[in-house]
Amino acid sequence: METVFTADARMTSYWWERSPPETSVLDELPATADVLVVGSGYTGLHAAIVLARGGRKVLVCDAGQVGFGCSTRNGGQISTSVKPSFDSLAKAHGEAVARRIFEDGRRSLSWTEDFIRSEGIDCDFRVVGRFHVAHNSKSFETLAASIRNQPKGLEVPAHVVPRAEQRSELGSDIYHGGIILEKHASLDPGRYHAGLVRLARQAGAEIASSCKVTAITRSGDGFSVETVRGRVAARNVVLATNGYTGPLSQWHRRRIIPIGSYIVATEELPEALVDKLIPRDRVVSDTRRVLYYFRASPDRRRILFGGRVSMGETDPRKSGPLLHQEMLRLFPQLSGYRVTHSWMGYVGYTFDTLAHTGEQDGIHYAMGYCGSGVGMAGYLGMRVGQTILGKAEGRTGYGETSFPSRSYYFGKPWFLAPAVHVYRLRDRLGI
Ligand SMILES: Cc1cc2nc3c(=O)[nH]c(=O)nc-3n(C[C@H](O)[C@H](O)[C@H](O)COP(=O)(O)OP(=O)(O)OC[C@H]3O[C@@H](n4cnc5c(N)ncnc54)[C@H](O)[C@@H]3O)c2cc1C
Repeated sequence: METVFTADARMTSYWWERSPPETSVLDELPATADVLVVGSGYTGLHAAIVLARGGRKVLVCDAGQVGFGCSTRNGGQISTSVKPSFDSLAKAHGEAVARRIFEDGRRSLSWTEDFIRSEGIDCDFRVVGRFHVAHNSKSFETLAASIRNQPKGLEVPAHVVPRAEQRSELGSDIYHGGIILEKHASLDPGRYHAGLVRLARQAGAEIASSCKVTAITRSGDGFSVETVRGRVAARNVVLATNGYTGPLSQWHRRRIIPIGSYIVATEELPEALVDKLIPRDRVVSDTRRVLYYFRASPDRRRILFGGRVSMGETDPRKSGPLLHQEMLRLFPQLSGYRVTHSWMGYVGYTFDTLAHTGEQDGIHYAMGYCGSGVGMAGYLGMRVGQTILGKAEGRTGYGETSFPSRSYYFGKPWFLAPAVHVYRLRDRLGI
């Protein structure tokens, strides 16, 4: 069988080519820290930056390399990150809380842009707009109505693109039109992460890779933190482990559903072809429950195409050909072009499809971005840092609802494969 992979294809993140993972190990782990942050992704690093700038002695520990998790593996699409509709949130939590959650969602997007620009992080950040496309005509009507009926005072700049005009946005006819969310943006996630590592260190934070935290126990008015490289006494602890949350905190593990998201990068394409496929450099996502998302690479020489192509978790060697096949269904013009990178990462879903932040048994946390954390993870990480510094602005709408779990859920999503099966069926039938 002909392979879709180039001879030198890698089963690792495309972004690691330009920003290779940093594996340097701290010579010696400090015996004490004011704050120990578990996890060196966007959540952990943004918390670390605020805290170190606030005068705290900060140690960030990651079980893998610095940025091992999703923060160097994602698609680099930045949205407002709120999955539920305003009406459903208002029904569940009241209008005031719904409003706060929506406001924080919008703020996470503008704050991320301001932060990257003011700190001079060179990461190909661009406000390109999102083309959110409908996979059937009913979804198109729903999308168009969502733009007409935006909640008062929370409107975002957006417009509708009917199917007849879709070619101006996309070199494909398989979708049924869509909407443009004009403020959504793109970046190179690896370069963004590398910029955060630099800022955290400049502020005085120490970062230890290959330093898995194995236990956190109360000790006096702080914590004793056990790592594979020694024990650290810390006044405060931040849990920033999202989709990689393991048995370290069973309470959090029972609330986070780790779901693999899979993605490929094509080999270099003729520029004219990329201009045909994604002429306005938008980031694109579709309305399926089991959705696909894609974009051009920052140099506009490749297509990055992501989604979920298997019921259970699988290997990038297997997901690569399946994603390639889906990509060809969308863009037959890519026939003959192969894949140079196929990789995956675990996003952290929640039972209410909302991110959550707060304090549990004295441990501060932010997690559960449901696959949309490029803006929100950093924003909530920053807010957690402010909270520990005692600042009132650390409070967000995401700390105002309870963080739900389910009976019989202990951290292994046994229901995932049947759920994906049902969702895919509903996507196909348009129900
Ligand atoms: C393929 C893919 C595509 C995506 N595309 C997008 C996108 O386009 N837009 C978007 O908004 N979001 C996207 N996401 C999601 C986004 O990347 C995440 O929401 C975000 O990076 C979460 O950041 P984080 O810092 O909370 O977690 P992560 O970056 O996952 O970091 C968690 C870290 O915790 C560490 N850790 C866990 N347990 C321990 C322990 N016991 N001790 C020490 N360290 C530990 C892990 O090693 C890991 O490095 C995508 C994700 C994937 C996988």
